[in-house]
Amino acid sequence: MTQTIVIAEMSNNAVHSSTAELVAAAKTFGGEPTVVVPCVDANQAAGAANMGAGSIIAAKSGAFTHYDAKGWASALDAVVPQGTLITGASPQSKDLAARLAARRGLSVVQDAVAIDGNNITSPVYSGKAMQTVSITGPAVISVRSNVFAPASGGAGEPTIVDTTGDVATSVQEFMARASERLDVAEANIVISGGRGMGSPENFVHLEAIADTIGAAVGASRAAVDTWEAIPHAMQVGQTGKTVNPNLYIAVGISGAIQHLAGMRSSKYIVAINKDADAPIFQHADYGIVATWEEALPVLHDSLKSMMG
Ligand SMILES: Cc1cc2nc3c(=O)[nH]c(=O)nc-3n(C[C@H](O)[C@H](O)[C@H](O)COP(=O)(O)OP(=O)(O)OC[C@H]3O[C@@H](n4cnc5c(N)ncnc54)[C@H](O)[C@@H]3O)c2cc1C
Repeated sequence: MTQTIVIAEMSNNAVHSSTAELVAAAKTFGGEPTVVVPCVDANQAAGAANMGAGSIIAAKSGAFTHYDAKGWASALDAVVPQGTLITGASPQSKDLAARLAARRGLSVVQDAVAIDGNNITSPVYSGKAMQTVSITGPAVISVRSNVFAPASGGAGEPTIVDTTGDVATSVQEFMARASERLDVAEANIVISGGRGMGSPENFVHLEAIADTIGAAVGASRAAVDTWEAIPHAMQVGQTGKTVNPNLYIAVGISGAIQHLAGMRSSKYIVAINKDADAPIFQHADYGIVATWEEALPVLHDSLKSMMG
């Protein structure tokens, strides 16, 4: 049996909770996965405790301060044990997965949504089709979030290993637009607005519902491109984020193939659109043919009473 190693998903130098899902994915291959935490300070590896790992390695290096493709790949390659590597499927982690695979001469399967023995299923052609590949021997697999139920228990204390990376670019300053809201890629429920919302001010109606049910607010590319107040970080789709929530509510979104690419694997899709022929209805589990002005207040009231 090949050893499986999870590269912890990192967010602002902290172990992201989705790492426990990656451990669950790794466990499908049998055995006790090792989790490697790329960290600047070994204390950051404590975040990987109780995520189901057989062992934890704190890979410590200044190279991990900010993501640098070359720096992270070289620093990790030096200390990550041989075997099948499991990473997250964020843009950064997919980049890292490809680089580690290239360094080790391994095959890479990106954005896995199912693992059945050695058969790995992942979307291709922007989600228009699914492909299943069989791996023989070690490979690098990036796994989409919200596919596996998080693992728990297991190792707590990390082994600290120093490493150095060949950093090619160093970030001088981040100018992220501050947002208190949940990220669409991490949320279990996403409510997204499209151009049909009419103006960015109308997104407050989506935010109010999001606050009631603990959802993140997303947007179509048309909304992001049309209105400066709707940041690209909210964009769902082929050139935005891929989301995989339990519930996706699309409001005033037509359902273009590029939008579907980012959300069609959601467990339940609800669409609100005034046009009964909008393509989104072909992919929705529940469809409401109405304007959002009519539908959202009713939806919000019933959600409020459901939430008590
Ligand atoms: C290379 C490429 C990459 C792309 N990447 C992405 C991507 O990542 N994400 C993405 O979303 N798109 C992407 N697009 C754009 C995509 O093709 C569509 O143009 C876009 O998704 C349309 O957004 P929309 O549905 O909000 O707007 P529209 O197509 O304008 O649809 C608006 C919808 O709102 C409905 N509506 C209008 N008023 C109301 C109302 N009052 N109440 C209810 N419904 C109403 C209309 O019936 C309509 O269906 C990409 C395109 C290309 C070429």
